[in-house]
Amino acid sequence: MGLRIYNTLSGRKEEFVPLREGEVRLYVCGVTVYNASHVGHARALLTFDVIYRYLKFLGFRVTFVRNFTDVDDKIIQRANQEGSTAEAIAKRYIAEFRRDSDALGLLSPTQEPKATEHIAEIISLIRRLEEKGMAYRVDGDVYFPVQAFPGYGKLSRKRLKELEAGARVEVDARKRDPMDFALWKESKEGEPYWESPWGRGRPGWHIECSAMSTKYLGQPFDIHGGGMDLIFPHHENEIAQSEAAFDVPLARYWIHNGFLNINQEKMSKSLGNVLGIQEILEHREAEALRHYFLSSHYRSPMDFSEEGLEEAATGVERIYETLERGDSLTGLAAASPERALIEMFREEMDDDFNTPRAMALIFDKVRSLNRLLDEGKSDGASSRVAALKRMVEILGLLQDEPQAFFERKKRRWLRLQGLSPEVIEGLVQKRDQARREKRWQEADKIRVQLQEKGITLEDTAGGTVWRVR
Ligand SMILES: [Zn+2]
Repeated sequence: MGLRIYNTLSGRKEEFVPLREGEVRLYVCGVTVYNASHVGHARALLTFDVIYRYLKFLGFRVTFVRNFTDVDDKIIQRANQEGSTAEAIAKRYIAEFRRDSDALGLLSPTQEPKATEHIAEIISLIRRLEEKGMAYRVDGDVYFPVQAFPGYGKLSRKRLKELEAGARVEVDARKRDPMDFALWKESKEGEPYWESPWGRGRPGWHIECSAMSTKYLGQPFDIHGGGMDLIFPHHENEIAQSEAAFDVPLARYWIHNGFLNINQEKMSKSLGNVLGIQEILEHREAEALRHYFLSSHYRSPMDFSEEGLEEAATGVERIYETLERGDSLTGLAAASPERALIEMFREEMDDDFNTPRAMALIFDKVRSLNRLLDEGKSDGASSRVAALKRMVEILGLLQDEPQAFFERKKRRWLRLQGLSPEVIEGLVQKRDQARREKRWQEADKIRVQLQEKGITLEDTAGGTVWRVR
């Protein structure tokens, strides 16, 4: 059996069949660049990074498009607050986003289009909808009439009647239906604008994804992804616009990653618990965060906790330690990954990218490999180490050489403890002196003092060696 994907549109797992053989066209909604990215974004980014990597591993030629929403109410609001321009705000947070995605070890998408660079495509899509009677003007605004699109609600399984009933009272009376959404908005004084057939204005949020996905991937394309919070209304509206315009489906498979709570609370500005990616990467390796997310299925809701992240960090170290041990095996360079193991891994991942089971397999092999190495049995160990390397590589984990990883970890730890190698060396020498002079209590005090900061000492024939945990 090949790859099976849970399709939000059908509500079940389906066999994945690409529209063109050997090729996958993937669109994922990107960030609105008005603020630093938080750990919820990190989950979505890492989810689709792993999916992208896995599709490539399967041998598909993947075209991966992820956009930047660089004109939007929130961006404009921020610009006004800072006395800056929407353009400057967007530019700043695109740069920050790139720094975060590099730090997270994400592969770059094939294309990263910006909404403001596709205004012509957006206008022509709205024009097309207008010509088909699927858009109407109210003053300088243009709306999409949801009642005229029979499939409205099919992705979120929401009935239009219920949605209308649930709509807030202060609905814009100019709209035909409370659920109608803006394709184009007239610009208010001081807002960025573009000339259009409807006057000076800017695109609504949803239309940009329809315009850009069609431009780079055609319609229909294979996979559309994003966080579960985007199913309604964003993805529902994308489907309505695109399918009303071209009378073919927008995308075949819809993949959505689950929510992320923080200590069992929804992450929100008002609760003050928004956790930035940079904040986490200050004290943790990016691979710990990646492993943390991989340990749950991408569709499951997750609760972010520092303890969980700590555990994930320990796991990453265990794999690195095992690979470091394996590196000393002779014949490793020539070894090809154990086939049966890669097959088992593939079976797990083929089942809707089941990373928790793939990770369980990896840790099972880490244990058995360590046993083999403990017993000094190197028969077959090389191909197993090679398989282990291959599996973690497909998941985007362990992107470093073990030595480089431990060195980096050590430097970070020392920085956080306010220590430096020089200070530690000084203390070690003081302890050596005390030991030579048989001042055992003092020597022991230094050892304990270092231990409290996570530094362990080992007395070897060649002298004292210090280690971070
Ligand atoms: Zn989108």
